[in-house]
Amino acid sequence: MISVLCPCYNEEKSLPLFMKRIITVMNDTGLKFELLFVNDGSNDNTLSVLKNFAAHDKRIRVIDFSRNFGKEAALTALIDYALGDAVIILDADLQHPPELIPEMISKWHEGYEVVAARRDRVSDSFFRKYTALTFYRFNKAVSQYDIPENVGDFRLMDKCVVHALRNLRETQRFMKGLFVWAGFRTFYISYKEGKRAAGESKFGFLSLWHLAVDAITSFSTFPLRVWSYIGGLTALGAFIYGIMIAADTWLFGIDVPGYATIVCLILLFGGLQLLGIGIIGEYLGRTYMESKNRPVYIVRKVYGGDEGDENEKVESEC
Ligand code: UDP
Ligand code: MG
Repeated sequence: MISVLCPCYNEEKSLPLFMKRIITVMNDTGLKFELLFVNDGSNDNTLSVLKNFAAHDKRIRVIDFSRNFGKEAALTALIDYALGDAVIILDADLQHPPELIPEMISKWHEGYEVVAARRDRVSDSFFRKYTALTFYRFNKAVSQYDIPENVGDFRLMDKCVVHALRNLRETQRFMKGLFVWAGFRTFYISYKEGKRAAGESKFGFLSLWHLAVDAITSFSTFPLRVWSYIGGLTALGAFIYGIMIAADTWLFGIDVPGYATIVCLILLFGGLQLLGIGIIGEYLGRTYMESKNRPVYIVRKVYGGDEGDENEKVESEC
C-alpha cells in the first residue's frame, strides 16, 4: 500500500483540484493507497473540505492540528500516522505534479528506498532562486550533510526510511535535512514546477530566513567553531601589532596620536564580539527549546478511515 501525504494550510481552493488529480493518478497505478492530510490550523474552510472528502472515501484520513504548527511539524505528523509500505509527500497546491508518481513508484520497485524530485524553479522569482542557491551553497560549505540543490519535500520513501525518521524527535526541525541525514539509496528525478493552483505561498522572506537558520544550526556547529579561529587569528594579529608598536616606541619614542586607530579597533572588536555572542546565543536558545521536550505538534482529532486503530500514531518498528 502507498500512503500519499499532504500538509494543508489554508488550501480550500486548491484541494478540490488536487484531489481530482491525485485520485486519478493513484487509481491508474492499480495499487492500494491511502490519502493522509494534515489540517495545519487553517483559518479558512480547509478542514470542512477535507472532512467532506473523508466522509465519502474510506481511503482518506485527516489529522486536525490544534493550531498552526508549520509545514515541518505537519510533515512529521504525516510520517507518524502513515500506514503504507511507501509514502509519497507532496504539496496541496499542485506545484508538485502528481503525474510524477508512477515514475517514482517504478524506481522504488527497482530497489531505491528514496525517490526524490528535483525542481527546476522556473516559476520562482529571481530573488527566490538566488537566495535558495545561496542557502544550498552556504549549507554545503559549513555542514557535512550536503542537501542536494533544489530537492524539496516532494519524494517517495520506503517504510524503512519512514521508521528511521520517526525516531528523530527534535522540535526544531528541518525535514529536508533530516531526510538527507537518514541516508538510504536515493534516486533523483527532475520535474518542472508550475505555478500554485490557487491561493498564495505561505513562505515569505522571513519564514524562509528562519527555516534557513534552523537548517544550518540543526546540522552544523561550524558557526560556533569559527569563533575560535577568528579569536586565534586576532590574537596572532594583536601579537604582531604589539611587537610593531613596541619597536616603534623604542626607535622613535612615544607617539600620542592614534585616536582614529583606537576607535576603529574598539568598534571592530566590539562588533565581532557581539556577533560571536549572538551566534552562541542562537545555539543556546535552541538547546533551551530542545530541553523542554515539547511534542512537535498537537492533534485535536483524526477524521476518516475506519475511525479505528489506524488513527493512532504508528510507533517505530524498524
Ligand atoms: N503548509 C503547511 N503549514 C504551513 C505552511 C504551509 O502545512 O504553515 C503547506 C501548504 O498548505 C502547502 C505546502 O505546505 O501544501 C507548501 O506551502 P507553499 O506552497 O505555501 O510553499 P512554497 O511552495 O511557496 O514553498
Ligand atoms: Mg507551493
